[in-house]
Amino acid sequence: YEYDNEYTFKYSELTTTLAEPKQLRAKPDVSELKFGQIFTDHMFKVFYHKALGGWQKPEIIPFENISLHPAAKVLHYAVELFEGLKAYRGVDGKIRMFRPDLNMQRMNLSAIGSGLPTFDGSELIKCMNRLIQIDQEWVPHSEASSLYIRPTLIGVDGTLGVAQSESALLFTILCPVGAYFDDKNDSVALFADPSYTRAWPGGCGDRKMGSNYGPTIRVQRKALRKGCQQVLWLYGEDHQVTEVGTMNIFIFYVNERGERILATPPLNGLILPGVVRQSILQMAHEWGEFQIQQRTITMNEVIRLQEENRLLEMFGSGTACVVSPISSIEYLGRILPIPTMEHSKPLYNRIREQLYAIQYGHFEHPWAVPI
Ligand code: PMP
Repeated sequence: YEYDNEYTFKYSELTTTLAEPKQLRAKPDVSELKFGQIFTDHMFKVFYHKALGGWQKPEIIPFENISLHPAAKVLHYAVELFEGLKAYRGVDGKIRMFRPDLNMQRMNLSAIGSGLPTFDGSELIKCMNRLIQIDQEWVPHSEASSLYIRPTLIGVDGTLGVAQSESALLFTILCPVGAYFDDKNDSVALFADPSYTRAWPGGCGDRKMGSNYGPTIRVQRKALRKGCQQVLWLYGEDHQVTEVGTMNIFIFYVNERGERILATPPLNGLILPGVVRQSILQMAHEWGEFQIQQRTITMNEVIRLQEENRLLEMFGSGTACVVSPISSIEYLGRILPIPTMEHSKPLYNRIREQLYAIQYGHFEHPWAVPI
C-alpha cells in the first residue's frame, strides 16, 4: 500500500460529535418494537476516496440523512453490501456483541465481491463499540429484545459507468428490535416454488450484497399471498433446498440405521455463510450426541423422510430471529407438514436457549464479546 490509510481507517482517529439534547429522540416501549423501524440518536461513518489516499478519518455523528450525487454507483448498479449483527444487554447489565469478527470477515468478502475497499475489521468493531456505548440507553433492558447493528458500504462516485468505485461510504446505524416475526405463533409455513432462483453457481449468493435481496421481494409477496411466512429457496433440476427467506436451513432426522442426523446445505457458493449456522454446527459438534452433515438436501429426500416418519425437525437460523421452527412447506401444489413442533424437547429449542444464554450473558462465553 502506497498510503497507510489505503489499507484501513483507524479507531485511533475517530472523532465524535454528540447530538444536541433537542435532537435526542424518545426511546420506544420494548413491547412494541418491530424490526428496523426506529433508529438510535447517533451513527458512524467513514469515507474512502482513492484520490485522497484511501480511507479518511472515521466519525460518530448525530443520526442524519445522507446526501448522494444522483450518479452515485450505489443508486444505479447496486454497488452496495451490508451486515447484520446484534448487541445484547446481559442479565449482568453488560452489553455484548455476538461474534462480530465473523461479520467483519464476511463484510470484507462482500467488499471484494463488489469492487469496494476492504478494511481491518477489528477497527470497525472498536468504532461500533464506541457508537453503542454512546447510544447504550437504546440497548433494550429486556431479554426479548436487542440492538440490531447494520454496517453498510456503498459506492458513491458521482460517475455513471459500471466500474470499480473510487469513492465509498461505510456507515453503521443501530436499531432496537423485538421479535422478527409479527406472528405470535412461533413456527413458519414455507412456500417453495422451483421456478424461482435466489442464487446460482458462479454468482454472488454467498455475499451479503443488496443486489441479492431486492429481487426476492416479489417472491416473498407471493408466499404471503399463499398464506406462508417465508420462501424456501430451491436450486437446480433436483430442487435442492438452499435457504429459507434470509435464514440458513437445518434438517434433523433419523437415517435408515436409526441414527439421528443434523444436516444443512454446504457452503458451495449458493448460500450465505451464516454466523448462526456456523455457531449451531460448532455447538452440535461439541455436544457430540448426533451426526452432523453439510451436504446437498433435495425436496425428494425431505418428502421421503416425512413419509417414512423419519423427519424430526426443520428450522431456519439467522441473526434476526436466531432459530425459527418450520411447520409446513407448500411445494408443487401440496402442503407437506413438518413435525418440528410436535416433540416434547425439540432440538431447535435447545439450540435457541443455548444461544440466548450465551448472548444474554447467563455465562461467559468467547462468542459474546463485551463492548
Ligand atoms: N441467509 C441469508 C440470505 C441472510 O440474509 C442471512 C442473514 N444475514 C442468513 C442466511 C443468516 O446469516 P446470519 O446467521 O449471519 O445472520
